Amino acid sequence: MKDKALIFELSTPGRVAYSLPEIDVPVQPVEELIPAQFLRKEEAALPEVYEVDVIRHYTELSRRNFGVDNGFYPLGSCTMKYNPKINEDVARYAGFAKIHPYQPEESVQGALELMHTLQNDLAGLTGMDAVTLQPAAGAHGEWTGLMMIRAYHEERGEHNRVKVIVPDSSHGTNPASASVAGFQTVTIPSKANGLVDLDALRGAVGEDTAALMLTNPNTLGLFEEQIVEIAEIVHEAGGLVYYDGANSNAIMGITRPGDMGFDVVHLNLHKTMSTPHGGGGPGAGPVGVKNILLPYLPGPIVVKNEDGSFAFSEKQDRSIGRVKAYYGNFGILVRAYAYIRTYGPEGLRTVSEHAVLNANYMRARLAPYFEMPYDRICKHEFVMSGSGLKPYGIHTLDVAKRLLDFGYHPPTIYFPLNVEECIMIEPTETESKETLDDFIDTMIQIAQEAKENPELLLNAPYTTPVTRLDETGAARKPVLNCACS
Ligand SMILES: *Cc1c(COP(=O)(O)O)cnc(C)c1O
Repeated sequence: MKDKALIFELSTPGRVAYSLPEIDVPVQPVEELIPAQFLRKEEAALPEVYEVDVIRHYTELSRRNFGVDNGFYPLGSCTMKYNPKINEDVARYAGFAKIHPYQPEESVQGALELMHTLQNDLAGLTGMDAVTLQPAAGAHGEWTGLMMIRAYHEERGEHNRVKVIVPDSSHGTNPASASVAGFQTVTIPSKANGLVDLDALRGAVGEDTAALMLTNPNTLGLFEEQIVEIAEIVHEAGGLVYYDGANSNAIMGITRPGDMGFDVVHLNLHKTMSTPHGGGGPGAGPVGVKNILLPYLPGPIVVKNEDGSFAFSEKQDRSIGRVKAYYGNFGILVRAYAYIRTYGPEGLRTVSEHAVLNANYMRARLAPYFEMPYDRICKHEFVMSGSGLKPYGIHTLDVAKRLLDFGYHPPTIYFPLNVEECIMIEPTETESKETLDDFIDTMIQIAQEAKENPELLLNAPYTTPVTRLDETGAARKPVLNCACS
């Protein structure tokens, strides 16, 4: 594929993409409007191009991208489910899209009611007593929850509670958020069956335990059957139990973190509630708490007055304070609300049932061709291993690269860390049996190719603009500015 010029390289002085109408108000020099220290000394080096060139450039870039609207995207733990377009329509209603955070509350009652209903829906779905919609992502929600846990222990004078326990299958954000919130993490090994080792947990808890962070079903897609006992062990030691509900696709309408004994939970609306994973753009990771953590909840949350009107309440007394400007990413909240209303309680349960059914169908059909370290009924996702292909010189990475040639986004690979040559598949509930079958057949074909013609996999992909990149280098030493003059 021909290398594309950068938009800066397309620039020719004097070209403009559009023209503003003649100004019809008195002209005021910019120096009178903006203090001198904020004024540029020289012109901004913006590209000068025609409108058609801008459109072609970005349309071309967008076509090089891969999204769930392009094809199947079984990225385990990330839940790339289809985002229904009605969510987008509703988020664009002027009454939602054109309001301003400084508007008087009485002029945005509909928006407040939406947030109030969403708070209640999410509390009901998770079995929690109250919810904040503020945090902007899952990891942000984790940090918010952990800061509340910290405030809780500190208020009780238990300053020695500095440790957060995580299982070795935990999502990388869990230990990261714990560190950022000022805790030390203690990792406990999972048992051979992939579940929490209760003896290891008993050995790890103590007077220094602040919390256990857990996701259930866990990151291997397995349900922690002894979850009630796990929560009890931590509570008896004086710690709290944090539910990483980033991906709640297996449990909606079936079980609730609150009923399992968890004290605090975050949800990723971009995973469970079909809001877009915005490529670094706005997201939402609401946090729900039991009453013991209610005093620390960040404001503002929406409350309903006795006269039926809605208002923001800052809840500032012992709150950990705001964690996000204004009221969270409101447009995302609207999409999640639309999703929940579209499905209703019964429908959300069906979503979870189908997510689990799809994952188990794929697991069963792929089991003869790939190693299955935990060969038992899974929840919304499952892990398998590419280790059986090692005798042919093939690794999981080669399988993932080859999938690109068939137009699939590869599954999550090399995560969780406790499974060798890990391949983690999450089909989601929004895919048809035909799509699942096509992908499974492709995986079977690739496993066959690995044995018969390993070179083919080692040099894949063949159809993409770039092939094998230094992914670590790209993440650790990103080049983010344009070096062209
Ligand atoms: C995705 C995910 C997270 C992190 O969520 P972000 O919105 O990416 O910050 C945390 N835990 C689990 C289990 C996840 O799948």
